[in-house]
Amino acid sequence: MELANRLERLGTETAFAVSQAASDWAAKGNEVFPFHLGDIDLPTPAPIVEAMRRGIADGHTGYCPGPGVGELREAIASVVGTARDMPVSSDQVVVQPGGKPTIGKFLQCVMNPGDEVLFPNPGFPIYESQIEYLGGVGRPYSYHATDTGFAIDIDVLESMITDRTVAFIYNDLQNPISAESTHEERAAIAELAMKHNLWVLSDEAYFDIRYSGKSSSIAALPGMAERTCILYTFSKKYAMTGWRLGASIAPVEMARWIGQLNINNESCTNHFVQYGGIAALTEAEDDSRLLLQTLRTRRDLAHQLLNEIPGVSVALPNATFYLFPDVTDAMLAKGFTDVGDFATAALHETGNSFCTRAHFGRPLPGERRKYARFAYSGIDVDRISTGLGRLKDWIES
Ligand code: PLP
Repeated sequence: MELANRLERLGTETAFAVSQAASDWAAKGNEVFPFHLGDIDLPTPAPIVEAMRRGIADGHTGYCPGPGVGELREAIASVVGTARDMPVSSDQVVVQPGGKPTIGKFLQCVMNPGDEVLFPNPGFPIYESQIEYLGGVGRPYSYHATDTGFAIDIDVLESMITDRTVAFIYNDLQNPISAESTHEERAAIAELAMKHNLWVLSDEAYFDIRYSGKSSSIAALPGMAERTCILYTFSKKYAMTGWRLGASIAPVEMARWIGQLNINNESCTNHFVQYGGIAALTEAEDDSRLLLQTLRTRRDLAHQLLNEIPGVSVALPNATFYLFPDVTDAMLAKGFTDVGDFATAALHETGNSFCTRAHFGRPLPGERRKYARFAYSGIDVDRISTGLGRLKDWIES
């Protein structure tokens, strides 16, 4: 029996292979320090859990409208619009089972076979997977290291745009590198999108995971709302990764089609979970602030300890829960030329489990420095200390 050809173009999150290797290593009785997980080891705030339970008790266990429960769509429109200083109406909001489904649904709305889409590399691997799977041509754009983090070269970006380019995927507050655009960079990207008539997917999964200042959305810039679809998720801000709750926020006509895709794919997002979502937006701000404080303490510690390791250096990001250190010199000092081999040895010698740059897209020509991603969302401060202490000892030995 033969399966369809298109499956050969479907990618995945290879980071899950790192989880598997860590679990296998732990199953053999070894201690593992889990820096590979983009998951959160903290509980979902109680008001959200309680509202979900009430949802079941109140009988919200049947189908609901494909685009979502009206009260949740209104709450999302209000909260998202206020946080971004832009008007958002509830008919622009389509509830989704998580943030991720917005990627494929957006592409299905804007991309025909053969069309080109720009996506970040390193970046969230599902962008490339979905572009290629749906018959498009993915065009990876890169970042360069600066003193304070990473930046996009706008001239290079513009040189990649052809008459087949239809969309730009933008993950400001970026996984894995924690890059954050300056206002100028964001405005320059918006200018490009308007000049070349591109759609924009603004992946705002980490919009609320920021430690100081205020996040901004490209959708709020003049002329951008009508060409931008926002990926919104409850996963990170409210420690709800496993609940699968998020939304696409799009121009009304696109939102209508995304709602119809929902009906084709899922019928609707899990009904009673949406009541948890309403409580998240209306009752869980304090819990979410506490969660952010915990993440901030972890970030500060992990940042300090990583920089104390010879041959490892990383800037302090102001958002997300990832650190993306340059590990080139540490790796070479240990006799490795391949960062994957270095990561495997680090797991076996020290128990530290982390992803490398290669888990976030094929390395681009000319890339010489080697990077790893340390997520601190799934590991407490004591284990951060012990784990990175062991990593330091091993690298110094
Ligand atoms: N976009 C980015 C950049 C992410 O890092 C993630 C999850 O890690 C997602 C989207 C998907 O979020 P969700 O778990 O809500 O589907």
